[in-house]
Amino acid sequence: MARKMLIDGELEKRNADDNHYDFDLFVIGAGSGGVRASRFSAQSGAKVGICELPFHPISSEVNGGVGGTCVIRGCVPKKILVYGATYGSELEDARNYGWELNDRVDFNWKKLLHKKTEEIVRLNGIYKRMLASAGVKLFEGEGRVVGPNEVELIQLDGTKISYSAKHILIATGSRAQRPDIPGQELGITSDEALSLEELPKRAVILGAGYIAVEFASIWRGMGATVDLFFRRELPLRGFDDEMRAAVARNMEGRGINMHAQTTLTELVKTEDGIKVRTDHGEEIMADVVLFATGRVPNTKRLNLESLGVDLDKSGAVVVDDYSQTKLPSIWAIGDVTNRKNLTPVALMEGTCFAKSVFGGQPTKPDYGHIPCAVFCIPPLSVVGVSEEIAINEANGDILVFTSTFNPMKSTISGRQEKTIMKLIVEAETDKVIGASMCGADAPEIMQGIAVALKCGATKAQFDSTVGIHPSAAEEFVTMRSVSRRVAGKKSKI
Ligand code: NDP
Repeated sequence: MARKMLIDGELEKRNADDNHYDFDLFVIGAGSGGVRASRFSAQSGAKVGICELPFHPISSEVNGGVGGTCVIRGCVPKKILVYGATYGSELEDARNYGWELNDRVDFNWKKLLHKKTEEIVRLNGIYKRMLASAGVKLFEGEGRVVGPNEVELIQLDGTKISYSAKHILIATGSRAQRPDIPGQELGITSDEALSLEELPKRAVILGAGYIAVEFASIWRGMGATVDLFFRRELPLRGFDDEMRAAVARNMEGRGINMHAQTTLTELVKTEDGIKVRTDHGEEIMADVVLFATGRVPNTKRLNLESLGVDLDKSGAVVVDDYSQTKLPSIWAIGDVTNRKNLTPVALMEGTCFAKSVFGGQPTKPDYGHIPCAVFCIPPLSVVGVSEEIAINEANGDILVFTSTFNPMKSTISGRQEKTIMKLIVEAETDKVIGASMCGADAPEIMQGIAVALKCGATKAQFDSTVGIHPSAAEEFVTMRSVSRRVAGKKSKI
């Protein structure tokens, strides 16, 4: 039905009837997905408007900013802090390489915070200029949908103005959620964590997803005492179990206090900081408590349900393979659809939207072989399936190749931290269907491996690829002996 509409309606040239709309496309939300979709649609000749709240470089009260979560309060500032935190261990490791660091080494949090904010302001400006140069009209304010072809914009002075559009694209992303425990208002989310006035000396983190393990590494790397509380046996549910264990081992090795199968029950304000109570009866004092317990789609104030657009039980906009909702003029991309919540995926969905609706080429996003990385220190990066998923879903045997080794740099620095790599291979076809690595530069290496997997590379092709020596990456092409052969659970008996 959606596809039929695309072919019948969108792929033909816009006819005179379209001229009565203010815009061909109005986008609500100028994050990664919204900016991509609006620019590419405008480049295909569409008249495009986009709305977003203004960006406040210091306050975390305002959730807006052209560039969205990734640029303003997500991936980019987080990665800057990860770089900052990594210098701590690099300086320690430098001693055995002959660097004399006799004088006290100080870390100046405020300086890094200032540099980070400068960079975010710069990127915010670049994003605005990209919109302008593509001919996209930017409106500052909050948008809501008041009709199948009508958006209401609540401007900064509180006045309302309506625009009509042939298509409306929802790209409002997601926001952090807090657990419902007494004293939860004393805790913060990643929004505030990226702009804290003071670096905490004692940090408590609840959760064990991307944000929890990344902030644990950041704060520990900057010298804080960090206690990480999570409800499973290992952090990072959904990733390969062996890699989760490696991350936990590394975090512990770097001095993070790991509290598995434990959750927080109450926060109490005291003169000495925040008293944190756990379900194991422990009490621990903290300067900062970070809730990294997931994110929810930003759909509350959009008025979508009253127009007949379906939301799922998490509040995400329900869309078809082309990102179209039940209402043909309304579309949605990115985290607000809760498909695969990663910036590059929102970019892909934005590109496909623009191609389908304004570019004359109906295109579905391809969710196969999406690589991802967790920027804990050292990082974890994966593409394809984990060993557990491969075994659960395979009809035939699965071959698992692993390599655990001391990275060359550690032989001199003396750091006790192994790098671990894994390839998952379908025995019958010899196809590599999963790769993972926990160790220095894992995300940089995995991007190339993702290309190989996307091309359907076999283990024999990995083996016949010449390595780059000396590097950790070459291990991926020298894993000769199979570590284990496991029968897939769907194998016929
Ligand atoms: P995640 O969904 O990754 O993890 C949430 C964590 O919180 C899980 O460990 C979960 O435990 C735990 N949790 C949820 N509710 C509770 C609760 N009530 N009590 C205790 N623990 C709880 O969310 P994040 O907040 O880490 O990240 C949000 C999104 O942002 C992710 O979808 C991710 O895609 C994206 N992101 C990506 C990054 C990257 O690409 N590097 C970096 C940062 C964020 P359990 O596993 O037991 O359910």
